[in-house]
Amino acid sequence: MAIPVVLQLENWYRKNRRPLPWRTLTTPYRTWVSEVMLQQTTVAAVIPYFERFLARFPTLPDLARAPEEAVLAVWSGLGYYSRGRNLWRGARHVLENFGGALPPSAEELLRIPGIGPYTAGAIASIAFGEKAAIVDGNVKRVFARYYGIEDSIDDKATTGRLWSLAQKWVDASQTPADLNQGIMEVGATICRKSSPDCDHCPLRRGCVALETHRVDAIPVRKAKTEKRKLNWLSLVYTNADSIYLENSPDKKWWRGLWDTPHIPLASAKDLEGTLKRTVGKCTASIAPLGRAQHTVTTNKITVHAYRINLPRKVSFSPHGRWFKTSELGSLPMSSLVSKVLALLV
Ligand code: SF4
Repeated sequence: MAIPVVLQLENWYRKNRRPLPWRTLTTPYRTWVSEVMLQQTTVAAVIPYFERFLARFPTLPDLARAPEEAVLAVWSGLGYYSRGRNLWRGARHVLENFGGALPPSAEELLRIPGIGPYTAGAIASIAFGEKAAIVDGNVKRVFARYYGIEDSIDDKATTGRLWSLAQKWVDASQTPADLNQGIMEVGATICRKSSPDCDHCPLRRGCVALETHRVDAIPVRKAKTEKRKLNWLSLVYTNADSIYLENSPDKKWWRGLWDTPHIPLASAKDLEGTLKRTVGKCTASIAPLGRAQHTVTTNKITVHAYRINLPRKVSFSPHGRWFKTSELGSLPMSSLVSKVLALLV
């Protein structure tokens, strides 16, 4: 079925696309890496990570053969580390089962651990030209406004409807890579969450939200749950130019990353008592470093950091190790720990 707006959008994309690093040379592997990095992260934040990642792991087999810790080290600071870990696991699967080359269809890509419907559709359409649909936050917003959909885009039924619409569009396209990237480009640069630039939108003709003056009211989202406030005591053990870090396999967040030891507090009022109970005997060498804040999923964590300078290097856990400060740059660490260590300077 012909959908004129689809061909207009493809043309618009070819003329207006931003020259992003993963677009200058398109390969299935580069598309995969970029799409995983772009999930829940802005283009501006992703660009330097993408370039570093590709310089360190230029091909899929390079990534698959690297140790997990090396992958997480390059990912450090980008957040949502399970994405990096899943990418690495997926690469190992592709090397073992597909000889190191990603398969060309969304259906086969979906069988790779860590690749979901969105990423499968993105790789299949952008790198292989398959008529595979994609739906992410940008696509949801653009379609909800274009079609004037007032049901919550967080509902399963609405999501299913949006996938059907996306499939209709891509079925009508001549170049699925340009169509899918065109929808995402409109969502990222024109049909923004706030202040969409409808005057310059290639979809303005036929956009129901614009015609009915409901651009600000659509998309409809479920009310966000309030973030849970957590307080942690963070212990930065030092000895001369060395720092003690732990990498426990049992922790809830940031598995595989090196951390300063953290102790959850019932509230900020428990800080002094917990500090005394934990490191009471070395009171003379304790110094407050300050506070750092970090948000992870629905939790807002305030970390109260203290430096404890020890006369000798002792270990507090079988998963602990002392590192020279000069080694820290090459370690996989969460952004939270980087913020805590920055307080040392
Ligand atoms: S015309 Fe406005 S609301 Fe409609 S798709 Fe374009 S930017 Fe979004």
